[in-house]
Amino acid sequence: MSHLEAHFMHDVANTPRGSGVLACIQCGRCTNSCPVARIVEEHNPRKLMEMIILGLRSDLFGGQLPWYCLSCFTCLDRCPQGGDVGETMFAIRNLAVKEGNIPDGILVQAKSLFENGRVVVASRMALVQRERHGLGEEPSVDVEAVQKILKKTRFDKLISKGK
Ligand code: SF4
Ligand code: SF4
Repeated sequence: MSHLEAHFMHDVANTPRGSGVLACIQCGRCTNSCPVARIVEEHNPRKLMEMIILGLRSDLFGGQLPWYCLSCFTCLDRCPQGGDVGETMFAIRNLAVKEGNIPDGILVQAKSLFENGRVVVASRMALVQRERHGLGEEPSVDVEAVQKILKKTRFDKLISKGK
């Protein structure tokens, strides 16, 4: 049975991006208007808010729901309460990552950003296609500078917690 944590909603609301949850009346307009929810069954912004309100912290941190959002903010335009689910998604991700709950795919991209200065490294085929289409050399990245920024923000420490 799921463990309920009554203060979880306030923990989220007290983070810089999580206050929108306090306004949510569970009308579901965010889910009805979300482009991701149309194609990914598990993605449900209304349900995310509900899980926060109910205090289902470990279920939320252990699942994929907070990680599908593409930050288009259509939900913010449609919400009658101004309850910004898109921002709340970030609040949940930030809290989850602090406890080492990072989905594998996100962790791979985060490590690539640190090691290569790019989230996705172009494949040999992509580089051949670039040349074929006259796009010139791939722009270089100052990996040292990227790592300096990531270390300042403790990004490297956070991703080292990934399970
Ligand atoms: S549209 Fe706003 S009030 Fe309605 S469920 Fe979504 S976040 Fe809550
Ligand atoms: S910001 Fe995220 S949750 Fe909101 S509509 Fe866009 S994809 Fe859906």
